[in-house]
Amino acid sequence: MTYSAIISAFPRSSIGPLLLSLAVGMSSSTEQFVCTTCGHVGRSTSVRRGSTVIEIMLWLCYLLPGLIYSVWRQSTRYSACPECGVRNMIPVDSPAGRRIVGG
Ligand SMILES: [Zn+2]
Repeated sequence: MTYSAIISAFPRSSIGPLLLSLAVGMSSSTEQFVCTTCGHVGRSTSVRRGSTVIEIMLWLCYLLPGLIYSVWRQSTRYSACPECGVRNMIPVDSPAGRRIVGG
């Protein structure tokens, strides 16, 4: 099996967007959010399902399950209100968000 055959077995096009989405998911927490339940304005707290300990252990023991577990945790991540803990935070600059902040 040649080197180019190995490369073509793992197309870069499928890995690139995956890594990009991970990077974007980690850096998109500077936006202002408003809670539709209590009206709290500020940064939402990011809540993820699963365990960071399990994630690190999977990465150390088995690389691929670690990657799958990390992607799954990214997909289950949601923004919760730091005041009331309800999953109802929306961006301030969205139409509904402006209505709550402005009114
Ligand atoms: Zn709230």
